[in-house]
Amino acid sequence: MSPFRCQPFEDRRRPPYVHSLLSRLHIHCRNSSFGCSQILSYGQLEHHENIECKYLTQRCSECEKLVLVSNFDEHQQVPGLCVPSPIKCTICQNCIEKSLFREHFHECCQKRITELIQRASPQTLQTITNSQPMQPKYYSIIRTTTTNGKITNKFKRS
Ligand SMILES: [Zn+2]
Ligand SMILES: [Zn+2]
Ligand SMILES: [Zn+2]
Repeated sequence: MSPFRCQPFEDRRRPPYVHSLLSRLHIHCRNSSFGCSQILSYGQLEHHENIECKYLTQRCSECEKLVLVSNFDEHQQVPGLCVPSPIKCTICQNCIEKSLFREHFHECCQKRITELIQRASPQTLQTITNSQPMQPKYYSIIRTTTTNGKITNKFKRS
């Protein structure tokens, strides 16, 4: 299934200046690394890359690489051709191999939580243990005013 199916909807949401910018561009066909030398306008690009091009490609969902459609089965079946791209762990910022990511992320989360708890001040730990809301209870907002776009909250001690 082509991921480009979703594009027309996105196009409508793009602001007009993006459209006029895009329409003035001369864009190399994405299959240029396979031998296509076509340069196209934005409007022609999608049609060319997906239908007309002599070097039709498909993006592999495992490794994110462009693969010639005629080589796609081979790409998926011959060991070593498809090397899944590593995923960046948002916690430790390391790149982790796709097959190990789930396990890593779980461990990384646990480690991070443990580390944060160790660094937390005793008061906040108390808060967590007593499962109290994070906002202090004894203040309540009695009035919210907006002056020149600035929001001011008036507090009352209860
Ligand atoms: Zn092409
Ligand atoms: Zn692949
Ligand atoms: Zn990690």
